[in-house]
Amino acid sequence: MSTGDGLAINEVTVRFGDTVAVDSVTLSIATGSICALVGPSGCGKSTLLRAVAGLVTPTSGQIQWQGNDLTAVAVHRRGIGLMFQQHALFSHRDVAANVGFGLRMSGSDRRVIDQRVSELLAMVGLAGFEARSIDTLSGGEAQRVALARTLAPEPALLLLDEPLASLDRARRGELNAELARLLRELGQTAIYVSHDQVEAFAVADQVGVMHAGKLLRVGTPAEVWADPQSEVVARFIGHETIIEVAGCRVAVPAKAVKLMPRGPGLGVGSETKIDVVVRQSVFAGDRFEVQVASADGMTYRCYSDDDVEIGTECLVVIDPAACPRLND
Ligand code: ADP
Ligand code: MG
Repeated sequence: MSTGDGLAINEVTVRFGDTVAVDSVTLSIATGSICALVGPSGCGKSTLLRAVAGLVTPTSGQIQWQGNDLTAVAVHRRGIGLMFQQHALFSHRDVAANVGFGLRMSGSDRRVIDQRVSELLAMVGLAGFEARSIDTLSGGEAQRVALARTLAPEPALLLLDEPLASLDRARRGELNAELARLLRELGQTAIYVSHDQVEAFAVADQVGVMHAGKLLRVGTPAEVWADPQSEVVARFIGHETIIEVAGCRVAVPAKAVKLMPRGPGLGVGSETKIDVVVRQSVFAGDRFEVQVASADGMTYRCYSDDDVEIGTECLVVIDPAACPRLND
């Protein structure tokens, strides 16, 4: 299974009593790439991450880094950096002392540490924050300090467990984009756990979707979006409409739906031409995002160049070729 490059997780299962938190997960992550793990709360993301870090012992399976089995390697010798939602900074120390903590523990020279701390702070967008007290930081700034502290020892593998979950939406989007850029610049190998698929898709080279302990789908964000394979994965990544076309279950993304006026000459009532009523039309910069509903209550999302009035009776035409087929 292992090519010896990067991280290889092979058929890892973690049980807690009767609970199978992680169920025979196999996943490889190439050096220098970012893998996002997504899935609903309780699906086993954190447990898998903790197994990689060495904080929980798998019931069965192997975990290798660069071809070497990690099982017997102590947590602090794995070269792994961990960052969690709760940043656990030392609130009675200043920013520099927090960021330099690991470097001081490893006995580096004072001047070298100061230099490195300044570099790290600049990297996370906090140049000049050295002397600031932790209590005076905003939530986003505190997470940046936590990130700088985690990156300080140059971990071979970075594990991020919902690092932005404690922040408000606007901050999260901004910090997420910065985080993605930074990890890429560093060529950092990382696993990024999130329950927010939008966040994860923006950061990752590879996305793994978990459900009830199992890894259901792995691929690039584009591959997983275009071919989620199962309904669970399709729904989780944001496909809201799932219908049957020609005996197949398909997910219907907005770009597969064309909104048209009702009129003579257009055959109504087939699987792919559906009578609908406009429920919502939202201005989205260069277009309107429109939600419509059919008589049976199914809703469809689509785009329109022009605003359409709520209550307008229209027709949607669905392009089956643009709809991912589901296997279940
Ligand atoms: P996620 O991070 O995706 O929300 P977790 O990995 O935290 O999911 O949890 C997966 C499952 O394992 C849940 O059912 C959770 O209750 C259970 N679990 C996690 N840690 C423990 C533990 N230390 N002891 C018992 N059960 C646990
Ligand atoms: Mg978790």
